[in-house]
Amino acid sequence: MSNDFVFDDDDFAKEGGAGSGSREFDEFDCPGCNANNPVDEKFTDGDEVRCNYCGCEFKALVNQEGKLRFREL
Ligand SMILES: [Zn+2]
Repeated sequence: MSNDFVFDDDDFAKEGGAGSGSREFDEFDCPGCNANNPVDEKFTDGDEVRCNYCGCEFKALVNQEGKLRFREL
């Protein structure tokens, strides 16, 4: 009659969830003209942003280190 409560801590070891959705940005530096663009709505990985200065559109890519990069559309 022993009730052993075993807590499985394995969940803490889980990595590689890519943390999608948790990294948001409210500004970006345009890779085309280097202008700093504040945005009204925060964007994150996979969102598209547009530079207010040169009009170029980019797709935002956030890697697992949280580093923001852009791909020209
Ligand atoms: Zn620009």
